Amino acid sequence: LNNYGIDIWSDDNFVIEKGLAKVNFKSKPSLISIVKEVREQDFKGPLLLRFPHITKKQITTLYDTFNTSIDEYNYNGTFNAVFPLKVNQLPTFIHPLIQNGKEYNYGLEAGSKAELVIAMTYNNLNSPITVNGFKDKEMIHLAFIARSKGHNITLIIEGINELETIIGIQEETHLPCPNIGLRVRLHSGGSGIWAKSGGINSKFGLTSTEILEAYEMIKENEMIEYLTMIHFHIGSAMNSIKPLKKALRESGHIYAELKNLGAENLNAINIGGGLAVEYSAYERNRFYSLREFASDVIFTLRDIAKQKGVDEPNIFTESGRFISAASTVLVTPVLELFSSEYDLEHLKLKESNPPLIEELNLLFKDMVKKTSYEYMHDAIDHMESLLTLFDLGYIDLQDRSNAEILTHQIIKKAISQLEVEDYEELKRLDENIQEKYLLNFSMFQSLPDYWGIDQEFPIMPLTHLNKKPTRSASLWDITCDSDGELPFDSKKALYLHDIDLNKEEYFLGFFNVGAYQDTLGMKHNLFSHPTEVNVVFKDEEVVLEKVIESQTIIDILEDIDYDTSDIKNRLKENLDINTYKILEKYLNENNYLKTIWSYND
Ligand code: PLP
Repeated sequence: LNNYGIDIWSDDNFVIEKGLAKVNFKSKPSLISIVKEVREQDFKGPLLLRFPHITKKQITTLYDTFNTSIDEYNYNGTFNAVFPLKVNQLPTFIHPLIQNGKEYNYGLEAGSKAELVIAMTYNNLNSPITVNGFKDKEMIHLAFIARSKGHNITLIIEGINELETIIGIQEETHLPCPNIGLRVRLHSGGSGIWAKSGGINSKFGLTSTEILEAYEMIKENEMIEYLTMIHFHIGSAMNSIKPLKKALRESGHIYAELKNLGAENLNAINIGGGLAVEYSAYERNRFYSLREFASDVIFTLRDIAKQKGVDEPNIFTESGRFISAASTVLVTPVLELFSSEYDLEHLKLKESNPPLIEELNLLFKDMVKKTSYEYMHDAIDHMESLLTLFDLGYIDLQDRSNAEILTHQIIKKAISQLEVEDYEELKRLDENIQEKYLLNFSMFQSLPDYWGIDQEFPIMPLTHLNKKPTRSASLWDITCDSDGELPFDSKKALYLHDIDLNKEEYFLGFFNVGAYQDTLGMKHNLFSHPTEVNVVFKDEEVVLEKVIESQTIIDILEDIDYDTSDIKNRLKENLDINTYKILEKYLNENNYLKTIWSYND
């Protein structure tokens, strides 16, 4: 794997040119040039680079594809979309999204009171707001207030009690009523790992009995004019389109039956989210194109409307992952390669060494390309024997240190002599000769889905991409937790470069991290959100907008409710003023590692 699967996951957003990972837009800046510009401002630690032009591309592609299919099929409904705020609520992401979606009337979906407040504050008035999830009286009241402000808002009810509350609030406040949508509990489930969001056992939605009950209740309370939408969501990251087709048929018939019963303003089917993103560098996981997806939705809904003699519904989607994932890259500086501890300069051979160590020394000196594989094998065997000898007390600590250094040097020398074609051979030994890369980031904060559900993310170094990566790599984060590790997996092998970090820096990019990771992340070891920056293009020029540094130590402590004046007062005790000034400087820096050099460097 020499191009890190970029053809699978990048969708042409990033390319490799002259050994560098580059943004495939306008002046095509390299990611490393952007990283260097940010780090020159003394922002160390991990970085989140956001590219609003990629979000814009996704919004445009979504609307253009659906509108093309609508024209092709002479479909009479319109296409509409909202961004589900739970996928990324951060202002640095949301403000450009709203701006970029304005020409399409791209709206927002809210699943909690806080998200609804974001939507009713910032959504363009012409763009729709949908409200999902479990709602209390206060949340429903907020939706009425949003409607009063002029928003085009639809409350999608998950249970009959929510409908009762809507009726109650209207009687109580006489505010204009939001539109009402019914989330239906389909018997067809989804595909992919989040499939449990759909299906008869799902947490959400109304059964057919409840739908009829809701319809009667709406009619009795003379609110039929507000019933406008049928909603379903069969799960995130759908890898196949088949379950969607089933869900469309089911919901299409529910829509048509309610219309024929008398729901005259019912005019939309909201198909939820679920468009998948390619996360793997090794194999494709999405088995449909957006064009196919759009055509299937339109064709199926047109067919049912015709069959039942009703108007073709407007279509709403709530895809979040598809819109946001590609827009963000996490960049982590490599702090250390663990085998660098085994530098030759530390080798201290004795006048007389145990025979196996003499043998290792000879293997190292005599190794040539032809013998590299065999000698590496022998060295690994000898090392195991030497460790047993140490446990039995036959060799001392200096011998053991020499054995470790020589074995690592032999492995390094052998790998550097292997050709690309030898990779398959190398893989057989990977478990034994992997290099551990220590990365300045927290897995828990920045890749929570990797930690929680083994979600794969594409990984690629930002530089050296014209050189053969020779080390089978496992990645460690800086938390004090052994779960903060991406171990080497020979089935999905990651190879990285053998770098002397005393001479040059090396950064890894984790791609497609713009969906869900930002706010699902947690502050294990109090590592907070990385420094983030929006990378925008003014004509050809790259401009770094909205640089937000990772929280300072004192702010992190304040966030978890420590009294920071008390902390400062206590720290001042028994310290002279100059020492305290240094301490105060540290309190005002972020929590990630800043210096990686030893005192002599
Ligand atoms: N709409 C609803 C109701 C959801 O529950 C979800 C996510 O689970 C989404 C939209 C967004 O899904 P995705 O990000 O996979 O497009």
